[in-house]
Amino acid sequence: MKVFVVNCGSSSIKYQLFDMKDESVLAKGLLERVGSDSALLHHKTDGVTHEKQVAAPNHTAGMTTILEALVDPKIGVIRSIDEIDGVGHRVVHGAEEITGSARIDEALIDVIRRNIELAPLHNPPNLAGIEAAMEAIPNVPQVAVFDTAFLATLPPKAYRYAVPEDWYSRFHVRRYGFHGTSHRYVTLRAAELLGRDPAQVNLITCHLGNGCSMTAVAGGKAVDHSMGMTPLEGLVMGTRSGDIDPAIILYMLSRGLSAEQVDEALNKSSGLLGLSGLSNDMRDLLAAAGKGGRNAELAVEIFVYRIVKYVGAYYTILPGLDAVVLTGGIGENSVPIRRMICAGLRRLGAVGDERRNEAVVGGRAGPITAEGSALPVWVVPTNEELMIARDTRAIVAAGR
Ligand code: ADP
Repeated sequence: MKVFVVNCGSSSIKYQLFDMKDESVLAKGLLERVGSDSALLHHKTDGVTHEKQVAAPNHTAGMTTILEALVDPKIGVIRSIDEIDGVGHRVVHGAEEITGSARIDEALIDVIRRNIELAPLHNPPNLAGIEAAMEAIPNVPQVAVFDTAFLATLPPKAYRYAVPEDWYSRFHVRRYGFHGTSHRYVTLRAAELLGRDPAQVNLITCHLGNGCSMTAVAGGKAVDHSMGMTPLEGLVMGTRSGDIDPAIILYMLSRGLSAEQVDEALNKSSGLLGLSGLSNDMRDLLAAAGKGGRNAELAVEIFVYRIVKYVGAYYTILPGLDAVVLTGGIGENSVPIRRMICAGLRRLGAVGDERRNEAVVGGRAGPITAEGSALPVWVVPTNEELMIARDTRAIVAAGR
């Protein structure tokens, strides 16, 4: 079975074609600048990236370009699009209605459309991608895999905010959480690596990329999560503030900033970038901190402090803790940040192991704490696309 996985942003389409026989990636790529006459396709097969400038005035044209690349006699990997057995779409927001992946039909499209008000930047391009794929590959089952679905098991005490009840009942104000596909993938993979039953495993999973979030997992199910109604809450991120006093927003409005300026500042020029005044990339900050850059050093310190603080909170609400799991660009690659996290978790029994930490890079999984550490800390690379492909395969195979 071959599964085509699609992740549509407002001006980009990311894709991977999987051969589910062995879960290998036949081709993957990115179409940038969708919506323009000079879109750029990066199409990778056999370790070689082919680049091509194309016109892609909309997602439908973009999808056609990608499918042409997949069947191209030179850079393609299949003879005809008929070889595709299922298409899996990443969809950001399913709100309360969606608790798992599902085959796309008119009713599901309606749900995604209804939830545009909760994810105005993400659900519209996700929908555009679905419509484009349905048009280009009409007879193939299409499946939606939602970022929010893994977090649908949060109990009310974790997802409700202490605000007037009708904010929730009328306006749907609650914690939804995001990065769910990543947290689910690393939960399953960590259970496998730890030799635990996935329905019994207790974890704290930390997705540390440009966006950062943490999930408390009890018995394989999410019971709390750091992102909120939007992806702005929780950890310090590349450019997002994470937790702040909500009154700061009103204060800044009273100081003359517009709502749009505050929104822009909290989402695009806060976090590591805002604190350091230098960069949102952890590598730049670690390099600058090493050369005495005080603001970069403080940004790194606050980033790690927030993670450690959340681990403490989740530790107390879980029935037990098999491991803290780190993933995402920073979690998978940054030896110094992982060292600092282990040091911060010493009180909970984590004993960092420098040799192990240095060995677990480049997409490897493994513990970075010493043998016998009371609290194991593991690195488990995420693979959201593979999770989407697996869900798609299961739904297509079951004929659902
Ligand atoms: P996204 O959230 O956009 O998917 P990633 O998960 O790829 O992003 O994470 C991107 C971030 O990972 C970069 O901004 C960078 O800070 C960080 N990163 C990647 N490699 C390293 C590294 N070797 N050391 C430190 N940070 C790294």
